[in-house]
Order: sequence, then structure tokens, then C-alpha cells
Amino acid sequence: MNQPVDTIAAIASAPGAAGVGVLRVSGPRAPAIAQVMLGRTPQPRHAYFASFRDAQGEVIDHGLLLHFPAPASYTGEHVLELQGHGNAVLLDTLLRRVCELGARLARPGEFTERAFLNGKLDLAQAEAVADLIAARSQAGARAALRSMEGVFSQRVETLLQKLIALRVHVEAAIDFPEEEIDFLADPAIAQQLENLRAELASLLREAQRGLRLNDGLRVAIVGRPNAGKSSLLNALAGSERAIVTAVAGTTRDVLRESVALDGMALELADTAGLRDTADEIEREGVRRAHGELQRADAALLVTDVEHAAADLALFDALPAGAERVVLINKIDLAHVVPHAETRDGVRWLWASAKTGEGLDALRECLKELAGAGSGEGNFSARRRHVLALQEVRERLDHAANALVISRAGELAAEELRQAQHALGEITGAYSSDDLLGAIFGSFCIGK
Ligand code: GDP
Repeated sequence: MNQPVDTIAAIASAPGAAGVGVLRVSGPRAPAIAQVMLGRTPQPRHAYFASFRDAQGEVIDHGLLLHFPAPASYTGEHVLELQGHGNAVLLDTLLRRVCELGARLARPGEFTERAFLNGKLDLAQAEAVADLIAARSQAGARAALRSMEGVFSQRVETLLQKLIALRVHVEAAIDFPEEEIDFLADPAIAQQLENLRAELASLLREAQRGLRLNDGLRVAIVGRPNAGKSSLLNALAGSERAIVTAVAGTTRDVLRESVALDGMALELADTAGLRDTADEIEREGVRRAHGELQRADAALLVTDVEHAAADLALFDALPAGAERVVLINKIDLAHVVPHAETRDGVRWLWASAKTGEGLDALRECLKELAGAGSGEGNFSARRRHVLALQEVRERLDHAANALVISRAGELAAEELRQAQHALGEITGAYSSDDLLGAIFGSFCIGK
């Protein structure tokens, strides 16, 4: 990878009314710029109170100056931080002055990209920096912090080492064809592969939870028209966002609402009533409802005592692995007390969107699905990480078939090689420029 040779600068903190504005500079010219701004050579990691001046010697602002020489800095390069008053005009003038002295404006995410290129962070950690900045819930922020500290990367790395060890065995066996069959039939090899698959399955589950902590649990609320979906969305969101009427077929589009339940983020989508209809607009709504189901982490089926059994068919459009919750609504009409049960792994809850009875249990259930209370080991993950882990799982399944059933060493070796590649993409051991561009381009400027 090409190491950057120029010096970048950006306003690193959004200037607020009375806040501090931070200008960050990174690259080989940072020490020279620091020298000019301070009027002498700063000691590493010392805070100086200084007057920042323009080329004519006019004071632009007063503030703190800090110098972090390479490699002990965020980017791994020489870094200079100027902390001034949180005024956009002053910060802009200061930025222009720093650019006169040899820096250029940084692109979004360029500081973190440099940290990655200089080996300060791996790719998953760098992504966690952006996720931490964008976190919408406490649990999400905590999880992103752990990923930034390398908790997820460490797990990936451990698996990667075991996968490499297995590859070494299999590749060695292929190199000695006369012993290959015996070698591949060795139960220790099969066992090694089994252990790897088990560890991967557990990492995938945790990464899926990490994705929910990061993105929020995507819940599609489904059910026949008039079941009470909009009423429920309003009750959970605490607003009158969806239109509630007694005429079947009101919710024609997909309504989304972000809800934070005790620090857990939920993305609720109220879908159109799933029914066959002649109405053109409503049909479109139904089509979108099916689309919403396809991308949901969980589906909440809203029904009532009378229709519950028939409505279960609405779960059919769900992707495998999505959680299912059945809410028997309108218990106030049926004179049923709120309660909960689990039937064949599906949670059933009895409640009323109108009176609010039983909704606390529903909130608890959703929080749990969103990853709440699942321990300190949680880390955040992104969809691309989950997809990579799913590919690794598939490759390992194929490798196991090739090895154990058909004793096809070459085939197993190739699948393991691909598995290693997919795993390496998570931390950036293998990464294309396109991927890096997409990841760092989504950062804000100054990070
Ligand atoms: P949707 O079509 O599934 O979104 O259903 P709505 O939320 O629009 O509700 C349809 C009708 O059922 C409205 O008149 C609601 O007031 C009513 N409703 C919703 N939930 C309850 C409930 O728990 N109890 C009672 N009695 N009525 C409800």
C-alpha cells in the first residue's frame, strides 16, 4: 500500500456556540507548522497556550497547541492539534493559514484512513470509529467502542490463525499424493475443521448481534388490515405518526420510526396490511411490505385472538434466521389478561395497543432481540462483516464435504483458501481500493 506523503488539515470538531473548535493537521509538515504557530519548537504531547497568527502577524485566535510526533499519534504520522474558539469563521481562517504553510484540505475519513494505512488500526477498527461517531444508542456506542479497541478484530484474527494452521495441513497433504488419502482421512483434521466451524458459527451469531447494536434492530410490523399495526407503532414510538382509522387498508406505504428503548435502537417499519387487493396504490404498499419483510431482522405479527392461526402464514415471506414475534392485540375486547408464551421457538404475547396492557412485556422482548443484556463482550459489526462471515461459513461447509465425504484434497484446499480470503476482508488483510474508498468516504471530514 502507498503511504501518504502530503500533509492534510481539517476542522475536526463541529464548532458550537460556546464550544471549542479543533483543527487537526497530519503529515510530514506538521512539525514545521507547529513551529510557526507557536514561534518555537513544541515539546511532544505538551499543551501550549498560543496566539495563532496569520502571515502578516495578525492574531487569528488564541488557543491550545499540541504536537504528537510520529508514530505515537492517531494517524501514526506527525500530528498537530490547534484548539481555538468554536467560531466557524475563525476556524476557517486558521485552516487557510495552515494550508498556506503547506497542508491541504483533508477528505472525509482521511485521518482514519491514514491510521489504517499506517497500521494503527485495522479496517474493522476504523469502521468502528465511524460507527462510534454515528451511534444512536448507548448500547451501540459501547459496542462500537469495543470494536474500536479491537475486540472483534481479535476474534477474527484468532480464527484466521486456526484456519491458516488447517490450510497448512491440507496443503501439505496434497503435496504428498501417495499419502494424501491417509492424511485427509485423519480424524484430527476433520476435528480441527469441526472446531473451526463451531467457532465461526458463534462469531457469526455475535456479529449479527453486533450489527443490530450498530444499526438498530429492524422490526417489520406485519398483519392484516385493521389488526392494530399503526396503533402499535404509535404506542411504541409515543407519537401519532401513523394514521389510525377504523377503515381497513389505511396504511398504504411503509412508515418507519426509530425508537430508543432504554438505550437500544429499534427501526420499526409499519407495513401495509398484507391482503390481496384490487386497489393499485394499496397493491404497491403490499409489494413494499413484502420487501420490508425480506430485510427485517425480526417480524412482529399483529393479530387478534380470532385470526391468530390463519395470520401465521404472513411469516412465510421472512428470510431464514429472522426472529418471529406474535402479538395478539385487542385483548381488551376479548377480555384476556396480558401474558406471554413461547411456542416452537416463536414468542407469543397478549396485549392491547389501545389500553397499553402487555406492552411493557413487548418492549422487553424487543430490547432482548436488539441485543440488550447480552453481556460485556459485545462488539459492533457491520453488514459487510456479517456477509463475509456467512461466506466463510459456506466455504467451510464445502470444505468439510470435500474433505470428509469425497476426500477431495484439492477442492477442500481451494475452499479453505477462499474462506481465508473472506475472513481477511473483515480486518483489511485483503482489501480493494474500491472497498477502502467506500468505507472512508462515508466518514465525516476531520475524522
Ligand atoms: P392497522 O390497519 O393494522 O394499522 O390498524 P390500526 O392501528 O389502524 O387500527 C385499526 C382499528 O383497531 C382502529 O380503530 C384502532 O383504534 C383499533 N385498535 C387497534 N388496537 C386496538 C386494541 O388494542 N384494542 C381495541 N379495542 N382497538 C384497537
